[in-house]
Amino acid sequence: MIEVKQLIKKFGDNTVLAGINFHVNQGEVVAIIGPSGSGKSTLLRCLNLLEKPQSGIITIGDVVLNAKHYSRQDEHHLRHQSAMVFQHYNLFKNKTALANITEALVVAQKWGKKEAHQEGLRLLEQVGLLAQANQYPITLSGGQQQRVAIARALAVKPKVLLFDEPTSALDPEKVHEVLQVIHKLANNNTTMVIVTHEMEFAKQVADRVIFMAEGHIVEEGSAIDVLERPKQPQTQRFLRQLS
Ligand code: ATP
Ligand code: MG
Repeated sequence: MIEVKQLIKKFGDNTVLAGINFHVNQGEVVAIIGPSGSGKSTLLRCLNLLEKPQSGIITIGDVVLNAKHYSRQDEHHLRHQSAMVFQHYNLFKNKTALANITEALVVAQKWGKKEAHQEGLRLLEQVGLLAQANQYPITLSGGQQQRVAIARALAVKPKVLLFDEPTSALDPEKVHEVLQVIHKLANNNTTMVIVTHEMEFAKQVADRVIFMAEGHIVEEGSAIDVLERPKQPQTQRFLRQLS
């Protein structure tokens, strides 16, 4: 589903991704962990070209993009393979929960109003927020806002969902409801890449865990292997600091 080859991203002289190779299979959930500044967000943002890598080959679904030279159309195609859920929900404040979801369907995908409305309600139900359809973001809790953001990401039927620390801005008691939604998606074989610092969650939901440090993938393997029996000293140190 995703294949990344020799991905290099620099900000000025700072090499943030130093030739990353990784893949994600259809239906697989991959968690990316690692210290602050190791390049996790940048890697995720490169997958949908929110950041422009200097070089490397990105394949998502049947779209292949060579970072050194690509057309506007290649860019457009690659962007539409994935949808991103951010730490700060980034909802439209002047739109209801439902309108936040239907916006992309009506404006970008030219759905009829009625169909978009029905699809929006279906998605809200999926994340347990049917009753909040007509509420504005400001009247929703952080966990509810994040679930609307997930429903919105799902609306465009991406091949892959990309999460960047989806729970780290939430109050501890709200984390669970968002993790539950992600869990449900995993059970439905949704392909997901999740940057997270919730090791317990990664263990439960991820098929594979990637540990990054200083722009490299230091270790990867099954969630149990990486989180409970890490081989690399850097991974061991990182996990020890957390416990
Ligand atoms: P965290 O766990 O704190 O979110 P991260 O692993 O997601 O960290 P990134 O945000 O990918 O790390 O940042 C990796 C490096 O790239 C850092 O050194 C950061 O300062 C640098 N960086 C990220 N975005 C930019 C930018 N827009 N301009 C310049 N440098 C950047
Ligand atoms: Mg980050």
